[in-house]
Amino acid sequence: MDNILRQKLLDWYRRNARALPWRADVSPYNVWLSEIMLQQTRVETVIGYYARFLEALPDVQSLADAPEETCLKLWEGLGYYSRVRNMQKAARIVTSKFGGRLPETKKELLRLPGIGDYTASAIASIAFAEPAVALDGNLLRVFARMTAYEQDARSNEAKELARAFFSPLMNGNAPGDGAERMSETQNGQAFNLPGSVNQALMDLGATVCLANAAPVCELCPWRDDCEARRQGKTEQFPIKTEKKPRPVENRTVLVILRGENIALRRRPRKGLLAGLNELPNTAGILDEAGAVRFAKELGFSPLRVKRLPPAKHVFTHREWHMAGYEIRADELSPFPADCACDEGLRSSVFLADKKEIRERFAVPSAFSAFLSLYL
Ligand code: SF4
Repeated sequence: MDNILRQKLLDWYRRNARALPWRADVSPYNVWLSEIMLQQTRVETVIGYYARFLEALPDVQSLADAPEETCLKLWEGLGYYSRVRNMQKAARIVTSKFGGRLPETKKELLRLPGIGDYTASAIASIAFAEPAVALDGNLLRVFARMTAYEQDARSNEAKELARAFFSPLMNGNAPGDGAERMSETQNGQAFNLPGSVNQALMDLGATVCLANAAPVCELCPWRDDCEARRQGKTEQFPIKTEKKPRPVENRTVLVILRGENIALRRRPRKGLLAGLNELPNTAGILDEAGAVRFAKELGFSPLRVKRLPPAKHVFTHREWHMAGYEIRADELSPFPADCACDEGLRSSVFLADKKEIRERFAVPSAFSAFLSLYL
């Protein structure tokens, strides 16, 4: 049975593999970079970021040597900035301990910052042919439908069963199991069964056994082997127990303009969006008078205030609902000795011109709705 499933999957992959830049030029660094970018981000978005990042920082050494601000700028808009920070930490470890070459086993890869089970498995299988199942939401969904798995598909038990389901597909090279046909699609790279099985499953989950729409079973290589399809219940799987709703936080964001410059603030080194630059903002929805007061606390002398359209940003674990104000201000004044406001609040405020903001300072996309009105 495993041989038959493998053969069907690889035959399908040979005809339908997505042409992705990191598949055309396979190297451990390229696989690593693409897999980290692809976490929480759509393939179409990643393609442009991947090309720009690789052009600026083409290998482990250049990533290890780059200023952090450069890495954050290249990541701007992708979100989850700890991903690129951890990549850089890992690159520094790889250069100092492994001579600039990524370790070749899943076990060793797992010791590097920011590399979890999925990423270690993807790198180890695609770049080093280790039979490690790169289990993500796509594979869990395919598993849950193929087996009509009746429990929560995000449970640890589901993950173990899914690994056990896919693992045998990575261990075979018998004639007729589909592997030998794959050599045609490898673009000159040596054929790699575990890597091809993982990538075929990724593609199957992304293009056929869909997450947020009905699966396109008539295009699926496993349509005659799928239990959910046999039962006519593909839409019922995977089963997911209810998640708690995300908490909503109200905030007020200021776009403080002084001449051609815009006020930014450096966020603290810890917590949400750590160490990035932001538009000054505070908890709660302020009225115009409150916004003016807040700008004064930051050290500005407001001249004019204008309300901006409200905006919303959804993080993984929370939502920000934001009011915005444009404030034309006089210069950033010295911190008044008799001011009762929090010095820490404004000590990290600075003025940056638009070109600098576009090219140098990374500002999280949570603020894009406001910042994009001015850049
Ligand atoms: S037959 Fe349909 S539901 Fe089953 S694995 Fe294929 S696409 Fe998914």
